[in-house]
Amino acid sequence: MTANSARPYAYQRIVVLTGAGISAESGVNTFRDNGGLWENHRIEDVATPEAFERNPELVQRFYNLRRAQLTEVKPNAAHLALANFEQEYDGEFLLVTQNVDDLHDRAGSQKLLHMHGELKKVRCVRTHRVYDWSDDITDNTLCECCQQPNLRPHIVWFGEMPLFMDEIYRALQSCDLFISVGTSGHVYPAAGFVELATQAGADTIEINLEPSQVKDAFQEHIYGKAGLMLPMYLTKLLQACQASKDA
Ligand code: NAD
Repeated sequence: MTANSARPYAYQRIVVLTGAGISAESGVNTFRDNGGLWENHRIEDVATPEAFERNPELVQRFYNLRRAQLTEVKPNAAHLALANFEQEYDGEFLLVTQNVDDLHDRAGSQKLLHMHGELKKVRCVRTHRVYDWSDDITDNTLCECCQQPNLRPHIVWFGEMPLFMDEIYRALQSCDLFISVGTSGHVYPAAGFVELATQAGADTIEINLEPSQVKDAFQEHIYGKAGLMLPMYLTKLLQACQASKDA
């Protein structure tokens, strides 16, 4: 484990991007750490529109299991540190997650965008209405709006457009600090956010277990577990922001 020391500074507008690595210590599997498999499935078999067309039962079962798994996991120190930071920090803050779990929500994060959708939501394929959802979806599950079995997971699959992109790009174009946590840098457009933040003049830091695919785009790096490294980093960052305000 190596840790370069980041230099906390009084930032005004912070954007944080998180990926599967931040939930790993809660017991939610990432997929790059599993040889490119997500819970023993190839991404092409469960996370593409083509997979859903080919084998909707398999895809629904996969997401039913992921949804059910959420009752067995809880937010870890990294999720909690982000929620606490947001509460204490008085600049502009946006948390963008690629994760479809609800651990940031349960930790108490407020300004939070799930750019790849949410396990706890489903969507009608006909009307596009989105519903909060905690149960399984089966062949017999009817959609409230059209009374047909038209529900799909509210998940952005590979080949589909991520959500909230206008809002995210606006925040990146005006941020002065961009923090990336627990993401491998393989999945775009999220992997390109560091470039946009850099163009905006922001400082950039990667906090991950290992160097990501886009590590060279970051000015600073902290390598180690998010549950340990992120709380330490955010504590220093908050102190620096508050000290500069008091000065
Ligand atoms: P990824 O699996 O490609 O990469 C995870 C990264 O996290 C790796 O670089 C790994 O080294 C790092 N990591 C592992 N444990 C860590 C820890 N304890 N602390 C810090 N870093 C750690 O994940 P990704 O980049 O988010 O891309 C995967 C895509 O799959 C996402 O778009 C997401 O939608 C989906 N996915 C979501 C979940 C979830 O919601 N929790 C889980 C698996 C996959």
